[in-house]
Amino acid sequence: MTAMRIAVGGFQHETNTFAPQPATLADFIAPDAWPGLTRGPELLDAVRGINLPAAGFIDEAHAGGHTIVPLTWCSATPSGRVTREAYEHVAQLLIDDLRAQRHLDAVYLDLHGAMVAEHIDDGDGELLRRIRSLVGPELPVIASLDFHANVSEQMLEQASALVAYRTYPHVDMAATGERAMRCLARIRGNAVVRSMRQPPFLIPLTSQCTLIEPLASIFEEVAREENPSAYSLNFTPGFPAADVAECGPSIFGYGSEPARLADAVERITERVIQCEHEFALEVFSIDDVLREVSRAPAPRGRPLILADTQDNPGGGGTASTTSLLKALIERRVSRVLAGVICDPQAAGRAHEAGIGATIELEVGAFFGDSGGVAGETPIRDRFTVAALGDGRFVATGPFYLGSRMELGPMALLRTGDVFIVVASRKQQAADQAMFRHLGAEPAEFSVLALKSSVHFRADFGPIASRVLVVEAPGPNTADPSKLPFTKIRRPHR
Ligand SMILES: [Zn+2]
Repeated sequence: MTAMRIAVGGFQHETNTFAPQPATLADFIAPDAWPGLTRGPELLDAVRGINLPAAGFIDEAHAGGHTIVPLTWCSATPSGRVTREAYEHVAQLLIDDLRAQRHLDAVYLDLHGAMVAEHIDDGDGELLRRIRSLVGPELPVIASLDFHANVSEQMLEQASALVAYRTYPHVDMAATGERAMRCLARIRGNAVVRSMRQPPFLIPLTSQCTLIEPLASIFEEVAREENPSAYSLNFTPGFPAADVAECGPSIFGYGSEPARLADAVERITERVIQCEHEFALEVFSIDDVLREVSRAPAPRGRPLILADTQDNPGGGGTASTTSLLKALIERRVSRVLAGVICDPQAAGRAHEAGIGATIELEVGAFFGDSGGVAGETPIRDRFTVAALGDGRFVATGPFYLGSRMELGPMALLRTGDVFIVVASRKQQAADQAMFRHLGAEPAEFSVLALKSSVHFRADFGPIASRVLVVEAPGPNTADPSKLPFTKIRRPHR
């Protein structure tokens, strides 16, 4: 096969349209778990070795002897809508980068698939449309998508092919980039047909874990069906907290034989529809959790994990609500490690006071200008500063693997037997390195209260005695039937 010149760019955001905090241009420019906005050749170093689609795509392309033409790449932590300024600025960078190129053989984009801007509901579809209209109808434009993409008809129409992750926790992000490159090689020069079906319901985030049934075996089936039937076969369970027309799960693929492809898509779809009742939500109230903690204390070395899903910053949460923590403190639950709370003011005060100091402090409920979460107030208490950190460390778990985290000043704060990790930037508590950075070894605690829905399972699952998904306050509503949708087309109750 002749070598290709492939333009590579990325613009990733998962938008919770019900969340109070928008994603601003500054959020895309700043590094967090993943690199900040990069443009041109620095993209190659910025993503190298990280579990990111662009990294996998670039490695696979280089292995095949292809040339990478780096464009702009950026991401921001999930939140409310992307501001018009941020969307238009980044989209224009990508368009300008592409316009400056000659003799491209293909374009690859590292997208999420559930981006909603202030002025555009189908952020990814509109971006693909603009790029398609620039490069013309013939050039292959391929994109990788997150597992939580809300795939639209426009996205399918404008891209030559879309290739999505198959795991949640997303341990296969780099591998999906590799699959996208292999898909590009297969579709190049061939006639491609596509097929899509959309099951008529939403799947709660915490029921989308692929480490457990029914999705574990459904995704085995997707992988099995792909080879004989399709260049690429995908199932995106969707991101439910998005009030856009095409919110929800999709099964879609690309191939050369229409009937065979349609059959494969149909079989997977029927299987998903048959499993509807198995996706039912299982959550615990804060009172349920307190009862469970006193009824069945965790054995030492095997903590009980409380997944504070509704304030998971990976789903648009603020990483700052406090109701669960207040309950654990008031009940004097022992050996609790909680985090990661985003509160730059508390982290700053802890750094001023120094390690070992005991200070009156307000922790949490730090919402910036966004209005916050109703009823949530800071924890007002005397805290001892147990450890301090600069927020720079490398992630070690399978999900954030290789990420060079930059979470700003961090602190480990102690009140009673409750230890709280505070950071200056929002990031989902999905890697033990986020706690070890401050000398806290998660397995040595009895209860871990984590601001995460599912991603924590990749790194914390092996040490957990039990996992309880908690319905504590936060904008990442666990039960989609409670969301006040107005635009969604599919039934959701
Ligand atoms: Zn995702």
